[in-house]
Amino acid sequence: MADYHKMWEGLGMDLATHDQLCAALPPAFEQVFLTQKDRPQGMDYFNMVIAEVHGLRIQELLEHKARGGKIIGSFCIYVPEEIVLALGGIMVGLCAGSEFWVPAGEQVLPRSLCPLIKAGIGAKVSRTCPYFQSVDLVVGENTCDGKKKAWEVLGDIAPTYVMDLPNTKSSAGFALFRRSMADLVAKLEEVTGNRLTFDGLLSAIETVDRKRAVLQRLYETRKAPKVPISGLDMLLASQVAFYDDADRFVSQATALAEECEERIKTGKAIFPGGTKRLLVTGTPIVVPNWKVHKIIETSGAVVVVEENCTGTRYFESRVDKSGASTVEELVDAISHRYFDRIHCACFTPNEGRADDVVRLASEYGADGVVGLNLSFCTTYQVENEKLRKRLQSEGIPFLALETDYASGDEGQLRTRIEAFVESLGR
Ligand code: SF4
Ligand code: SF4
Repeated sequence: MADYHKMWEGLGMDLATHDQLCAALPPAFEQVFLTQKDRPQGMDYFNMVIAEVHGLRIQELLEHKARGGKIIGSFCIYVPEEIVLALGGIMVGLCAGSEFWVPAGEQVLPRSLCPLIKAGIGAKVSRTCPYFQSVDLVVGENTCDGKKKAWEVLGDIAPTYVMDLPNTKSSAGFALFRRSMADLVAKLEEVTGNRLTFDGLLSAIETVDRKRAVLQRLYETRKAPKVPISGLDMLLASQVAFYDDADRFVSQATALAEECEERIKTGKAIFPGGTKRLLVTGTPIVVPNWKVHKIIETSGAVVVVEENCTGTRYFESRVDKSGASTVEELVDAISHRYFDRIHCACFTPNEGRADDVVRLASEYGADGVVGLNLSFCTTYQVENEKLRKRLQSEGIPFLALETDYASGDEGQLRTRIEAFVESLGR
């Protein structure tokens, strides 16, 4: 990687602490990813993106800002990237997946909070995330209790806007969601200095849909009896989708999908025959949280699908723009896509998620389901009980795991995962 210290200094970063983070990432990446055998060549691009995660992409974002564009940060897939893009902005998912940022988060937040929130806020407090230092606005949302209160803390140290979200999938809930969408449009128009136009929004919808379509195409290849790509590599590609340039991502992911499809034709599998297939469901898995996928895929199983916000919930549905002829109608269509089709445990009830897990387990030929939740994530932990009963009624084995970003419980996790995988063979 080139020397970006001057750029980071210009962003007001804590250079000494950031150097420690930069030193830790490459060996961790090497140990998790580069020890895998027979990776598709198309993964070279995604390796490079991670190697340059605080370099090249930040340089591009700063060039965009120099041309008058804005950078919008988000922590949730309810925040509509189509609208940001249509207003000439770039949206970046703020990672929040590293243990490195948790202690700084705990300086201003209770310890008994999910690591994703602590790491997210900690990245800003410690001034060691160049994405956070580059954003013109963070769009938070009233989803779980932890996040909605954390935005109050973040608001004191970063430009923050909070989208109000409903708790129920009712008509009153949709009315609130639609109103929040209109308020967000007004806020983003103010921040970017641009107005939404029909053509601009239509084009942005098509760009984001292309990104979702290529992720779907990649996931389709994991349905094959001989899986052409590891769950770890697919996880990495999905994570990159949240902050890479959309068109470049589509082109690189398409090349990777073609390679995976070719592997299926020639019968090239990445894991030996008999390897157990697992569906992972639960809380989001953001960069650089690769912990449980690594343990699963070195315990005699392969992850074939993720039902979570960095997996199918992000890309499975499209915006139905047919018949829309005004900006308002396009925003309606976007609102329906997000509200109707994303099944987050912050909603009650949330039966759509269990339906999705059962459907996906069948489509991807999963032998079992792992409910993977971050510690202190109450909504998903409570939901596990209903999910367990539903899966039991469908005859699908289920393992519930709760963990954070620290490595201390890896041995215990491995023991439980190995026992689960072994039980699937009986
Ligand atoms: S789990 Fe819920 S709150 Fe978290 S990113 Fe997904 S939709 Fe948003
Ligand atoms: S994982 Fe759970 S507690 Fe953490 S931010 Fe997401 S919904 Fe909130």
